[in-house]
Amino acid sequence: MRVVNPETSIRGRLAPSPTGALHLGNARTFLVAWLLARRRGGRVVLRMEDLDHPKVKPGTAQAALDDLRWLGLDWDEGPDVGGPHAPYVQTARRPLYRQALLRLQEQGLVYPCVCTRRDVEAGQSAPQSGDDGLAYDGACRGRFGSYAAAAATLPPGRLPAWRFRVPDGAETVFDDGFHGPQRERVGATVGDFVIARDPDGAGYMLAVVADDAAMAITEVVRGDDLLAATHRQLLLYQALGLTPPRFIHVPLVVSAEGRRLAKRHGDTRLAAIRAAGVRPETVVGVLAWWCGWAAWGDELRPADLLDRAELGSIPREPAVLTDPVKARLNVS
Ligand code: GLU
Repeated sequence: MRVVNPETSIRGRLAPSPTGALHLGNARTFLVAWLLARRRGGRVVLRMEDLDHPKVKPGTAQAALDDLRWLGLDWDEGPDVGGPHAPYVQTARRPLYRQALLRLQEQGLVYPCVCTRRDVEAGQSAPQSGDDGLAYDGACRGRFGSYAAAAATLPPGRLPAWRFRVPDGAETVFDDGFHGPQRERVGATVGDFVIARDPDGAGYMLAVVADDAAMAITEVVRGDDLLAATHRQLLLYQALGLTPPRFIHVPLVVSAEGRRLAKRHGDTRLAAIRAAGVRPETVVGVLAWWCGWAAWGDELRPADLLDRAELGSIPREPAVLTDPVKARLNVS
């Protein structure tokens, strides 16, 4: 299903984290990301975001590729198909992150930090909104002469984090493709933030910026739990002299009570739905119905949606895993 238009330079991406199996929420976001790129003849890049060890589980990366293909999505560049920006697996891209970190170090924009593990972990994974808590007070600003000096104060097995020194009064502004104009002073809301918990800078926040820029991604479509993190990423784009992509944050899929999907809401993993004998067309039909692009009960391939995938039809509220949806998809 190759619909690339050589005239367009649109490049979207699918960036699964192999920390767990893909579920309906991931599937909806990936379908939207794929359609927004493909309907204008853009290219789709698949990048495996596997820096989040020890949460990365063996076999999950391959399973994510299998699940996405089963659903009917494809990509022009990725770990299994190669491409001009290879490698497409973050753990194989550490030199790029080291280089980005070095640029920040040269400008005095980062420092090592030994504050609590909870703070530190928030920077290693993609931060979901609500995880951020209070603004960091800058306790480790100017405290250590080097990363090694900071590391020496920690018990074995714990590593310092690299924190970005937010310029005083810095304000970031962007026009989200779904949520509209956004504005924030990161110094007041989050404070100096963690870009990685790794000596070489290989953590979510720095890696996602370095990679999206290096892979010439023009549009980032992802869940709106990362809306707030975008401001931090914009500060990194600025500091690294890189051009940010357009951002489009779409609502998540939630339980009937409005909660983030969890095991107790039923097994919404694509692998489980597939194992229960549900056809991919049925799943895509439900995902599209959630987006306002299909009628209830439609059976569709992703490519059937190319001429109806309008962002404006997606409801502002999260998509809800109702009982009829569960019944249709055999989720128990
Ligand atoms: N890999 C991240 C996740 O699955 C997505 C990060 C992003 O799209 O920027 O949460």
